[in-house]
Amino acid sequence: MTTAQDLDVTPTPLALLLLGREADPSSERGVDCPGDLPAPSDPGLVERARAAKERLGEKVFVLGHHYQRDEVIQFADVTGDSFKLAQQAAARPEAEYIVFCGVHFMAESADILTTDAQAVVLPDLAAGCSMADMATAEQVAECWDVLTEAGVADATVPVSYMNSSADIKAFTGRHGGTICTSSNAERALDWAFAQREAGAGKVLFLPDQHLGRNTAVRDLGLSPGDCVLYNPHRPNGGLTAEQLRAAKMILWRGHCSVHGRFSLDSVDEVRERIPGVNVLVHPECKHEVVAAADQVGSTEHIIKALDAAPAGSKWAVGTELNLVRRLAKRHPDKEIVFLDRTVCFCSTMNRIDLPHLVWALESLADGKLVNRVEVDKETEHFARLALERMLALP
Ligand code: SF4
Repeated sequence: MTTAQDLDVTPTPLALLLLGREADPSSERGVDCPGDLPAPSDPGLVERARAAKERLGEKVFVLGHHYQRDEVIQFADVTGDSFKLAQQAAARPEAEYIVFCGVHFMAESADILTTDAQAVVLPDLAAGCSMADMATAEQVAECWDVLTEAGVADATVPVSYMNSSADIKAFTGRHGGTICTSSNAERALDWAFAQREAGAGKVLFLPDQHLGRNTAVRDLGLSPGDCVLYNPHRPNGGLTAEQLRAAKMILWRGHCSVHGRFSLDSVDEVRERIPGVNVLVHPECKHEVVAAADQVGSTEHIIKALDAAPAGSKWAVGTELNLVRRLAKRHPDKEIVFLDRTVCFCSTMNRIDLPHLVWALESLADGKLVNRVEVDKETEHFARLALERMLALP
């Protein structure tokens, strides 16, 4: 049987960068598509995707993140959030190609959790994540030096959100920390604080300040004053050694550009416009939005809550628009609206469109491995360590 290694391999992102595609090699954003994309107006795209998938048969497994477009999600063998999808990829060792319809850090996680014989393909390498981009390996190493200088590194356990690059996951693994998702962040923080003497421990939470703050204050009962914000663009993170010593949570100054847009005004406005509405938001939203909401939960929680909601109930949902629209369509008996008045797609998730998917599937069916996302062995080792600690969380 032909394996991924036997095939022609299209230049890696780094090779493309060296060809001068104007992308930053240390960024999550990746590069432009190197291939000959079909025209978006091609009326045969759906048929072409179906035919290429059929030609590939069991060799391919297509993963679709909840925030993907409908035109793409229809070809997903499984849909889910980033961690569920990485686990699903790991549970399919027979699939030679994992086509990940999501963003770059998700494809990296899938590569970390799958075997060497499997190749993970991201249909558009420019599908990065602005939040993951906000913490680079160099910045985080510098932060650790600042903590060391302040005498607090030994007391600090890093906890990194799944939405981070493989480099940041590896940093976390190397320094005794764990990864978390928006579903298990509370358990991850409990675990991290328990790694040090009671009352003496600190957490460095990367890269989403909002998930870190919301979990610490809402779920663990810490005060906002127990949290400090480390700004990687300022000397010493913009913090004094005293502030670092006094803090329990050191939050990295990163955020999701989609969830960070929701404001208290959006909540007030929707409550006025739709009396009796339930406001349901993702924990990547700002603390004041989360505090004003009726329910807070991960993408999977949002889906389950709306599936279980009684007919006639009203919901304003603060998460990515593709998902909210899909849920509204799935539940015509419930009133489901987007929390904000302005359109709010995740622009990088939306880069994966039908032309890119068709191009990736047809290339694979023709024996050409394109847009492979591969994590180097050392990074993989330490990132996997951090992921395994998460899987072992009590
Ligand atoms: S929704 Fe936010 S966290 Fe998710 S991929 Fe887009 S920018 Fe990144």
